[in-house]
Amino acid sequence: MTTLRIRTLGDPVLRERARPVERFDGTLRRLSDDMVETMHAANGVGLAAPQVGISGRFFVYDDHEGHAGFLANCALVGTDGEILHDEGCLSIPGPFSPTKRSQSVIARGQDVNGEPVEIRAEGLLARILQHETDHTQGVLYIDHLDAEARREVMRELREGEVRGASADPGFAPS
Ligand code: ZN
Repeated sequence: MTTLRIRTLGDPVLRERARPVERFDGTLRRLSDDMVETMHAANGVGLAAPQVGISGRFFVYDDHEGHAGFLANCALVGTDGEILHDEGCLSIPGPFSPTKRSQSVIARGQDVNGEPVEIRAEGLLARILQHETDHTQGVLYIDHLDAEARREVMRELREGEVRGASADPGFAPS
């Protein structure tokens, strides 16, 4: 398996609506394996195709609570509740900011073989599914913050670049 380069804020691929997955073949399976390797190497809990420079509507995830997998052409078909929790992103390395998300979600999509999948999730897994589905639509968690919080993230990001800091080991981004 290969570790892929993670694209960071400023790379236009992160802002594109990714293309739907139509071919569920060996190439997709290998890419999925490489993305899992890359996610684990970066201590992340999720990684979407645009984050490794690929315009594809799919992602991998591992919440380290027993839920790990692959989801293509994901749609959130039900959401409930609201919760504020620190969130980070491997493509915005360093800062974390309290981000409002649905407490629970129902996600539908396809597995790596193209078979239909439905995931009912709450807590961290629900947050990951929302964060990664956003990535496939060109949306980043900072888009959910108010202007002041977003400025704070950008400030921390610039300071982190000066220090050469990497991701906060206390919280796993995605
Ligand atoms: Zn992210």
